[in-house]
Amino acid sequence: TDFADRTGTGGPPVADAPPVADALLDLEGVTVRFGARPALDAVDLRVAAHEIVCVLGPSGSGKSTLLRVVAGLQTADAGRVLLDGADQVGVPVHRRGVGLMFQDHQLFPQRDVAGNVAFGLRMRGAGRTEQTLRVEELLELVGLPGAGRRAVATLSGGEQQRVALARALAPRPKLLMLDEPLGQLDRSLRERLVVELRQLFAQLGTTVLAVTHDQGEAFALADRVVVMCDGRIAQAGSPLDVWQRPASEFVARFLGFDN
Ligand code: ADP
Ligand code: MG
Repeated sequence: TDFADRTGTGGPPVADAPPVADALLDLEGVTVRFGARPALDAVDLRVAAHEIVCVLGPSGSGKSTLLRVVAGLQTADAGRVLLDGADQVGVPVHRRGVGLMFQDHQLFPQRDVAGNVAFGLRMRGAGRTEQTLRVEELLELVGLPGAGRRAVATLSGGEQQRVALARALAPRPKLLMLDEPLGQLDRSLRERLVVELRQLFAQLGTTVLAVTHDQGEAFALADRVVVMCDGRIAQAGSPLDVWQRPASEFVARFLGFDN
């Protein structure tokens, strides 16, 4: 009933492949090899505009590699990455219109909160007034109004996470990618933040591709869950669908259905 409440349907599972015309991100047969074993093995994945997709899988299953390929930090050995229908081969990181937030969020310790949030705006050549307005707007959005002058060192873990999120959102990326975004936080804070994030993304219409090894996080955040195993997609579907109908022994075990 929890999932039915959240999806607002309670009915049959949502189809897991969005229509091509709506695909903001399209991965076609993407393969990445480090040595013999592929980290990504012919992965096909589509993300529709405004969709929140969570990739769930154990450590080493290829989640971070997937995000790095989309961001342009890692080259694919085979396959194609399309954003808004355009092949990204040769397109550098800063021209892809994607935002990437890592697990260890890495705020710049020598800059204050505003300096951190404004980072991507400065890179884009935004003027001072635009920067100031946008920074305050973002800090309000993540629940830290007026925190611009604070030093990074005075922030709690949860506050740092919010600043990192504001920084990632600042240049209005068409695709926001989160790599274990709440990994460093304790469980109760994580559960609260994940609900806030979902509301925030819905409000902004942000398209999100997040990866996590934490199924609670994935199920609470996602419109669609993608389960990865050894560089392949083991299952993709609505949270309800994946939860109720694990497609394989691996997925069932990973979700904790041990018997
Ligand atoms: P996950 O994020 O799901 O934990 P990764 O994408 O980080 O998984 O890694 C997938 C596989 O690729 C792992 O076996 C990992 O050891 C390997 N791998 C990732 N990055 C590199 C790299 N730069 N060099 C060599 N092997 C790597
Ligand atoms: Mg990882």
